[in-house]
Amino acid sequence: MKEMNFYPGPSRVYDKIPDYVREAYMDGILSVNHRSGEFMSLMEQTKKTLREKLLIPGNYEIAFTSSATETWEIIAQSLTEKGSQHFFNGSFGEKWTNYAGKIVPVKPMPFGIDEQLPACYTGKDTDVLCVTQNETSNATQVPMSRLKALRANNEGKIIAVDTTSSMGGIMIDYGLADVWYASVQKCLGLPAGMGLLILSPNAVNKAEKIGDRDRYNSLLQIVENSRKNQTPHTPNVLSVYLLNRTQSESKGIVYTSGIVQKRYRKYAGLFERHDGFRFLTANEAVRASTVLALRHHDVPGLKSRARENGMVLGNGYGPWKNTTFRIANFPAVHNSEVEKLIAFLGDGPLRG
Ligand SMILES: *Cc1c(COP(=O)(O)O)cnc(C)c1O
Repeated sequence: MKEMNFYPGPSRVYDKIPDYVREAYMDGILSVNHRSGEFMSLMEQTKKTLREKLLIPGNYEIAFTSSATETWEIIAQSLTEKGSQHFFNGSFGEKWTNYAGKIVPVKPMPFGIDEQLPACYTGKDTDVLCVTQNETSNATQVPMSRLKALRANNEGKIIAVDTTSSMGGIMIDYGLADVWYASVQKCLGLPAGMGLLILSPNAVNKAEKIGDRDRYNSLLQIVENSRKNQTPHTPNVLSVYLLNRTQSESKGIVYTSGIVQKRYRKYAGLFERHDGFRFLTANEAVRASTVLALRHHDVPGLKSRARENGMVLGNGYGPWKNTTFRIANFPAVHNSEVEKLIAFLGDGPLRG
């Protein structure tokens, strides 16, 4: 790689991706028929690897989609009867609200970037609660304890959680919600082009109750195919293969999330000491560990100096585009790259 990429999505991919792509080609995986035994065993193996490495419960279904964005529609089409309530404090959660709103009645529930998610009872008009656990646009997170409180106050409702930029980097307590999803190009360190969807038994029951089969991506079709280790449409076989290879090599989420935490604390140590930087959210309890967003008085200047030093910082997003920059703290980033970025940010030209 010519540059050190700290962009939070698409982001740095694992170093071995070119080797794995070549191996996939040599093994004929790239041309495999998705109804063949060969594909089915790859899919079965991949789901098994994900359960082992990410600690996904055995009674939760694992399926593949095209993207996180697609999942916004799937949840509205196939899991929502009355309406969905959307908790958000940034651009991705807001986009989810807008996508869902074209299909079902939605109730927006915005909250501030320094606040915890309001884990209130959400009333009779909504049966699905939508939470962006890791809001990539402003680098805030909803802690598992908050999801637990939301669950406790809303028994019987489906809770759907966007973990696009945290799955693979944090410990997730899957039992606290019914739908968990991500795309592969962020925390999972793969080239873009696939989504991951994890469903509780309650979510599957709800899909059965609603019975939506009108679309190519209706959830029942996805689940029924997945149980046969297939997909409704021709999937991104290369991405399934790469997910299996990279996760097989991983030391597991307990170890990986420990590394992510350790690096986060290193960054936090620098930014708390250094006058030139301020975390976008002042509330440490809601700060994401996999993506960091920092205010700085001269973001364009900082980014161009970083680039001269071979480092690509992430732009700010949405309303914070010009006043913040973001750093991906994803597992595929090397420790040595983190060290270099910390040395660069903490060094001479930025002081004062
Ligand atoms: C990137 C991102 C998405 C969209 O992902 P796609 O793969 O482009 O569909 C959704 N939610 C969050 C939190 C994201 O970071």
